[in-house]
Amino acid sequence: MMRLYVLGSGSRGNCCAVEADGVAILLDAGFSAREIERRSETAGLDLARVRAIALTHEHGDHACGAPRLAQRLGVPVLTAAGTWERLAPGMGGATHRPVGLRTTVELGPFRIEACPTSHDAADPVALAVRTADGTGVGVAYDLGRPTAAVRYLLRNLTALVLEANHDEVQLRTSGYPPVVQRRIAGSDGHLSNRAAAELLAELHHPDLAVVVLAHLSQRCNSAADALATVGPALRRVGFGGALHVAAQDAPLAPIDVMVPGRGQLRLAL
Ligand SMILES: [Zn+2]
Ligand SMILES: [Zn+2]
Repeated sequence: MMRLYVLGSGSRGNCCAVEADGVAILLDAGFSAREIERRSETAGLDLARVRAIALTHEHGDHACGAPRLAQRLGVPVLTAAGTWERLAPGMGGATHRPVGLRTTVELGPFRIEACPTSHDAADPVALAVRTADGTGVGVAYDLGRPTAAVRYLLRNLTALVLEANHDEVQLRTSGYPPVVQRRIAGSDGHLSNRAAAELLAELHHPDLAVVVLAHLSQRCNSAADALATVGPALRRVGFGGALHVAAQDAPLAPIDVMVPGRGQLRLAL
């Protein structure tokens, strides 16, 4: 079993963590170190258990807390090579471990995999963290479009934290200048609710137990709108798990992630 902590998500900061066997990994650190410490305490995540900080890309809403936190916790930072080139000068001597398409990282009970995403950053990735019991958590945001590589990485996972950034109609009527709208909706930008629903329906499999919709735009989306688009699409393909929406300003309660069949087996015993 893994425990998933969603400490917050949105354009003003993203941070999740996974924990298994007393070991935790932060997935993005897009709030200040102090804010991540505060939210961890609220959510019941013991940062002393964190053994690494994995970053999807260098944008501030995903990486701004990493330098100080990596120093304070004395842990390595896992990124794609190009992301580290951008971040290294400001990382104050933190250790780097590369993660990428051909570079899997084994750390405690975890195997961490990554694949490139289509986004306007140096070398952005989506992340998948698996444990030996078959449980897996995937995190993918800032996806201009879901490439074949992303679809492949996110297959067969038990939990998915996936961007549902904007409602397409709300984006068109948002008052954002057309150039900004095109950037958000473009192939280097962000996934709409509809695109997230389509991707989740495609990725659905019987052991998918948890879906967390993340990185919602505050101006062009709401939790209710994201759920109204994604919920029915998941139900149509037979999803019977838990559907959550990440909030920008507060952590979710910790989510226990287990392969459904095994949870029932444990209960039956
Ligand atoms: Zn970004
Ligand atoms: Zn972002």
